[in-house]
Amino acid sequence: MGFKSRAKKRRQVSAGGKGGSANEEKPEFVGEVPCDIKGCDNWADKKAGGRKMAYDRAVEVWGSSGVSRKVRKISLCKPCYRAWKKENKGQPKEWE
Ligand SMILES: [Zn+2]
Repeated sequence: MGFKSRAKKRRQVSAGGKGGSANEEKPEFVGEVPCDIKGCDNWADKKAGGRKMAYDRAVEVWGSSGVSRKVRKISLCKPCYRAWKKENKGQPKEWE
């Protein structure tokens, strides 16, 4: 008996709280892995659709001066990966 009445009360409280806040803005995505293409400030996190790519393969498209980090595997954001894919049409797919 006592439990039932308490549950009813809680429902009323949550319904009232929901109407109070009108601004439900999505927080901006903050990643941990920046894109390694020069001039690109997107995130290359897996969550954001980023990919890892061999340095040499990226250099084929952007050149060594277009890749900001010289590591064996660089990080690419989604748009940069798409751009790379465009340039490499006809080559065997690596990920799909
Ligand atoms: Zn990028």
